[in-house]
Amino acid sequence: MLKGGTRDTTRLLMERSVPGRVGAVAPPLDVPAQPLPDAALLRAGLALPEVSEPEVVQYFTGLSQLNFSIDTQFYPLGSCTMKYNPKVNDEVAFLPGFAAIHPLQPEETAQGALELLYRLQGFLGEITGMAGVSLATLAGAHGELAGVLMMRAYHQARGDFRRTKMAIPDSAHGTNPASAAMAGFDVVTLASDADGNVDLDALHELAGPELAGVMITLPSTLGLFDRNIVEVCRIVHQAGGLVYGDGANMNALLGRVKLGDLGFDVIHLNLHKTFSTPHGGGGPGAGPVCCGPELVPYLAAPVVNVVDVPPDDGKADPEWDETAFYILDTPEHSIGKISGFHGNFGVLVRAYTYIRTLGDAGIKSISGNAVLNANYLLNKLRDDYYLPYDRPCMHEVVFSADWQRERGVSGLEVAKRLLDYGFHAPTMYFPLIVHEALMIEPTEAENRDTLDAFIQALQAINRETDENPELVRQAPHTTPVSRLDEARAARQPDLRWRGE
Ligand SMILES: *Cc1c(COP(=O)(O)O)cnc(C)c1O
Repeated sequence: MLKGGTRDTTRLLMERSVPGRVGAVAPPLDVPAQPLPDAALLRAGLALPEVSEPEVVQYFTGLSQLNFSIDTQFYPLGSCTMKYNPKVNDEVAFLPGFAAIHPLQPEETAQGALELLYRLQGFLGEITGMAGVSLATLAGAHGELAGVLMMRAYHQARGDFRRTKMAIPDSAHGTNPASAAMAGFDVVTLASDADGNVDLDALHELAGPELAGVMITLPSTLGLFDRNIVEVCRIVHQAGGLVYGDGANMNALLGRVKLGDLGFDVIHLNLHKTFSTPHGGGGPGAGPVCCGPELVPYLAAPVVNVVDVPPDDGKADPEWDETAFYILDTPEHSIGKISGFHGNFGVLVRAYTYIRTLGDAGIKSISGNAVLNANYLLNKLRDDYYLPYDRPCMHEVVFSADWQRERGVSGLEVAKRLLDYGFHAPTMYFPLIVHEALMIEPTEAENRDTLDAFIQALQAINRETDENPELVRQAPHTTPVSRLDEARAARQPDLRWRGE
């Protein structure tokens, strides 16, 4: 526990309250005093803490430092891609022209912002090998929903109403079946083969007139590149279906492989994973949707387009001397608006900055280093932890704690013990097809010293499993709080002070 002085975060702000102590001083009244509203409308007895400004700052800063963060510790949370967020991204997003812009500003007064969005659409289209991009979606799952709604609209526009089935691999992220179900599809599970690839025999059985499409994550959530992916797309297309790509994690493919070239029809990206915009705590995020030419007319609105001259509505500045004019457009058969305004603009500015600071070569170096780091961990830890799919990995490596389980220590307990060594835990128990899964994603941002320290910690925990299993089973020992009911904390957060 962090106790002592103002950093005692176990004492709530309310408990520090001293009657008459103030945190702010209002200036003297320089307008005529007005009568208060009807007393019946005023709440009596609202308990507010009476504390000074430094106390408030120290209290909340203390609380903020109790948690792990990407700016303080290695955070190898597989699939979530907790990579370093360069500070220059924030600096650019804080420029007054971006930070203080209003979403309802007339287009002619927002040309710079619209140009940025237009260029970002272009970069993402280039990176993914796709013809059209919409930035309107606010999360990966939100992008999935938009993408599968586009697939549905596409089939229905052709008068094909029989295609009700969406096939999704058993290794998929839970948002995939949820999105497909929300869009009205019947989810059917697609088995993986012994190598972790899509089982082609199982796919052949599903490929027919009722198949709307498949949702494939590449690299898969096992951190593996499906060597049959081109064949998977071919089989689905031949049956009249479409291929959705879950591109939440592009860290292994950036600058090397384009999903459009492999045969994917529509995908989403997570800018808050691959493109280094901050995430955690539920947002804000951005899950742009990119698609091939056939699906462009169905993209969610708005899409930024460019015209040669400003629309002659009398509002445009007559002095306008640029030839390009950026407009917010609605594609012809758009699934419509799916969020307020134009997406999470501040996040989009950060992703644009990230791409511009890296350039072609930098983008490619990300995937090289991310894959190198993950394979370094794979090879250094394979004698201590069971590797269920023994082949080179992509941006993340999935171990199993089965060898520890045999000695009475679970994957959860290994993960909790890592907190005592100063590392955030990896993703646990996902993907579901790996027993006692420990899914580790180092990202490109970490250096070899950090990776070596992490490897030593996991090796030490493996030794402790023999020598002192109780120590691991009771972990963590050094954090402000130990074992929490995490599901209840998320589902029934109790953030209100109620007094005694
Ligand atoms: C993170 C993730 C998602 C969901 O993204 P959100 O932004 O959290 O909605 C979907 N698929 C995969 C593979 C992911 O890793």
